[in-house]
Amino acid sequence: MPVPFGSPGAAETYEFDVVVVGGGIAGLSTALSVHENGGRPVLVEKAPRPERGGNTRFADAQMRFPHEKDEFSVRDYTADDMFRDLMRISSGRANEDLIRTLCDNARQTADWLTDFGLEWEPGYPHTAGYRRSPKSGGQGLVDLLFRRLEGFGVTCTYETAAQDLLVDPDGSVRGIRARGPEGIVDLLGRGGVVLACGGFQANVEMRVRYLGRFADSLILRGSRYNTGDGLNMAIVAGAAPAGQWGDYHSAVLDARSPKVECGVTALYNYQMGVFIDRNGRRFIDEGEDFRDHTYVKFSKRIIETAPGGTAWCVFDQQAYQREEFARAWRPVGPPYQADTLKDLADQMEIPAENFMDTIGDFNAAIQPGHYDLDRMDGKRTVGLAPNKSNWALPLSEPPYIAIPVTGGITFTFGGLKCDTSARVIDTRGQVMPGLYAAGEPMGEIFYNNYPGASSVIRGAVYGKIAGAHAAERAKG
Ligand SMILES: Cc1cc2nc3c(=O)[nH]c(=O)nc-3n(C[C@H](O)[C@H](O)[C@H](O)COP(=O)(O)OP(=O)(O)OC[C@H]3O[C@@H](n4cnc5c(N)ncnc54)[C@H](O)[C@@H]3O)c2cc1C
Repeated sequence: MPVPFGSPGAAETYEFDVVVVGGGIAGLSTALSVHENGGRPVLVEKAPRPERGGNTRFADAQMRFPHEKDEFSVRDYTADDMFRDLMRISSGRANEDLIRTLCDNARQTADWLTDFGLEWEPGYPHTAGYRRSPKSGGQGLVDLLFRRLEGFGVTCTYETAAQDLLVDPDGSVRGIRARGPEGIVDLLGRGGVVLACGGFQANVEMRVRYLGRFADSLILRGSRYNTGDGLNMAIVAGAAPAGQWGDYHSAVLDARSPKVECGVTALYNYQMGVFIDRNGRRFIDEGEDFRDHTYVKFSKRIIETAPGGTAWCVFDQQAYQREEFARAWRPVGPPYQADTLKDLADQMEIPAENFMDTIGDFNAAIQPGHYDLDRMDGKRTVGLAPNKSNWALPLSEPPYIAIPVTGGITFTFGGLKCDTSARVIDTRGQVMPGLYAAGEPMGEIFYNNYPGASSVIRGAVYGKIAGAHAAERAKG
């Protein structure tokens, strides 16, 4: 239950303008925005200081946002392009108003981060250039924004976990009750509370409850601290759950990745090769769409449908020798390698006959055409089940290489119902005064699949919006 505002039980009470829960990109953007708009925020972080930064610090933190054609990109990318991509990848299910606000604000928010000193470089290859990567990755992004906050004198508390919302008799949210180094403390915010404390991906009980039994053993790619606290706190106080609670973000990972906080151990170049299951068979159209629009759903297909939840990604030297190949994968160990398909199959411990038949059939089914990874080149196979619809080259140049792959969990899609000012909506459909959500706790953004490089920018955009709104509210 939410704690009635003014209840006894806290060792200390501290007052601020806005309480920001969570120190990833969404919380940092919120706190900076509160400060910029004349408010005094407190940033409350559950992790110890050296582990601050949430999922954001484990990420490359690549962001998609509108920009003109330049040396990094093959064409202009407009807010309308971004809107169309995000809506298409959610099969039209995402909340159009939230997506429109995200796309319309993405560029100016990226520029705002640049003004804090963020430097950019191109993102992964073959994404039409709309991805930009902070030069220093997610860790550098987090470090930079914390440095700015600390420079402004903003209070940041660590090892402090928000547990409950403090709610007034009129229903407005006045602060949080938290468990920290001083024991139980109340942190009050005149403008309200912004929940920027992640999804429930690190909470095994919630994973199984909402995603299914298989989800207990998923590799956790990011922060161990995102255990759904903000979602639970808000829902018991009356917030409406929204979005796809039964789905999540994943990536095609090296199956040898550490089980917790493995960071970037993903393969983003599988479209240059083939996926092979334990029986030596292909089972996915690796060239169905650009990698940025398939990696989440393919990784879930591997974990949920391939025997044993693992598969192999196999390449030949035509792929391996490409200049950009190494930039698009981070295996945690050396690849398996052999001069013949038979030897590779033996190392992979899969039926060699099946594997050799599969590759033989695949090579024979490839149609003529121009191979071009920067567009859907239509260089395909025919007559296979499944076919490869684009980027089909024969696997014919040894040595052949293979990496064991599986899925994992990055963040969850289920969240809270919010409006375009990041205000949380209750189950009556009305704004909960003083309660905001930004980043992963905001629902209705992602469904079924995921458009690459959208989550960090989502956190930045809605953190900035939430911070500005809550700072104004504090003045009122
Ligand atoms: C390996 C990896 C690679 C990724 N690559 C990309 C990419 O290139 N581009 C992209 O867009 N996205 C990427 N993502 C996803 C993206 O990083 C995250 O979804 C995004 O950064 C989330 O930001 P956030 O601020 O919402 O949450 P987080 O960054 O996770 O921050 C949440 C914070 O809340 C804190 N917290 C949790 N509970 C409490 C509590 N009760 N009280 C106080 N604090 C609490 C946590 O400790 C954490 O610091 C990647 C993720 C991973 C793990």
